[in-house]
Amino acid sequence: MLSPADFYMTRLIDVTIFLWLFWVGSSIGSFLNVVAWRMPRGESVNGRSYCPRCHTQLKARDNFPVFGWLALRGRCRTCRLPISPRYPIVEAVVGASLTMVGIGEVYRFALPFQTVPWHSVPLSALTDATVLLTLLYHILAISLSWAFGLIRFDGHTLPAKLKVTAFLILIGGMLIFPAVMVVPWPMRLEAIWQPSGRYLDASMRLITGLVSAAFFARCLTRGLCREADPKLDPLGKSTARLMDLIAIIAVPSIVVGWQSIAGVLIVASVVAVLLRRVLPSSVDALGRFAIAIPITMSLHIVFWRWLQEAWFWPSTDSTPAVVLIASAIVLVSPMWLREPFRSQEEEQRRKRKDSLDGPTLTDGPTLDDGATLDDGATLDDGATLDDGATLDDGPTLDDGPTLGDGPTLGDGGEADERRLSSDLEAKNQNHNFGRNPPTS
Ligand SMILES: [Zn+2]
Repeated sequence: MLSPADFYMTRLIDVTIFLWLFWVGSSIGSFLNVVAWRMPRGESVNGRSYCPRCHTQLKARDNFPVFGWLALRGRCRTCRLPISPRYPIVEAVVGASLTMVGIGEVYRFALPFQTVPWHSVPLSALTDATVLLTLLYHILAISLSWAFGLIRFDGHTLPAKLKVTAFLILIGGMLIFPAVMVVPWPMRLEAIWQPSGRYLDASMRLITGLVSAAFFARCLTRGLCREADPKLDPLGKSTARLMDLIAIIAVPSIVVGWQSIAGVLIVASVVAVLLRRVLPSSVDALGRFAIAIPITMSLHIVFWRWLQEAWFWPSTDSTPAVVLIASAIVLVSPMWLREPFRSQEEEQRRKRKDSLDGPTLTDGPTLDDGATLDDGATLDDGATLDDGATLDDGPTLDDGPTLGDGPTLGDGGEADERRLSSDLEAKNQNHNFGRNPPTS
């Protein structure tokens, strides 16, 4: 029985851990906003944030995740320029997913093969190197997955530099610390299996994870990048898009193992469909799926131990039949993953809107302005006001019909000559009125 003093002490530790995790998580979210904005534009992710109009550097407290934006009520402190709500939303969602995983792992109810009863935690967990390394690995993996998601959300191709960094971290981390495997690569091992020190197993775990990512990405091609050549022809249309899809799937595949990745993909495909109602219509099917992946991966990590024991979930403990059935469901998932059917008129309206807003232009790394226009009327880069410098001298965007109407430059597949001229007019008009008159 705990004495009252011990009881309050324990609760105080709980609250401190929770607040600290959320602060770290949302700060990572804030950094990912910067990454998602600057990396596709080839800019450095270092450097402090400043307002694009009045060039005031952001104060540290204004940069505070979520609450900084709320305290400013979404406007620059000095000149009242509006800041897009996207920034606090990303910070809050990334913060929530990382807090969830952090709590699950510090209190040790999330991962299989960790049998410490959770009453004896959290302090014992905070001094346990295995727990901390695994948590760090998962935080990195989820953050990288969010970075992929946010960049594809904007319709940009994933920057090569980011992909290389991501896989160096994920592959290197598992090879150096096999403890982060959590589950083994073969099916069926004794319940007391411990991953620490099993370097050969770690390499097999990585190979099986990467192979299944490539396999399932090709299965999803029909739903998410229909124009792509599954043979990955380097000159083929949409090859970059398919490579991105493989990278996006490879992250959870490495983290949860080849046995469970089919389960993650099924849930992610359902989440992607649900996101259709929440996200702007300019976000394409791959963008929604890329956002669904980090959400689903976080949930999988939190419920991992429970899923491992559930008969219906593909895992190292399940029967081969369950793994096969899950894989078969992934094969048919393009049926609900792909863009929903639209009437001709609706399609026309959507295309018009997209060409005003920016990104259906998924394959056009040159067409950087997609996201800029997309985030709407205001300056996009709230968290890091400086990025918006281009926006602020708006004329470059406004009079850039060649950029904005991208299909002509980018993915010829969507090019539609007929609408170009009328869209140009609409675009120019709209942006003169629609874009951020930062009044008041
Ligand atoms: Zn300002």
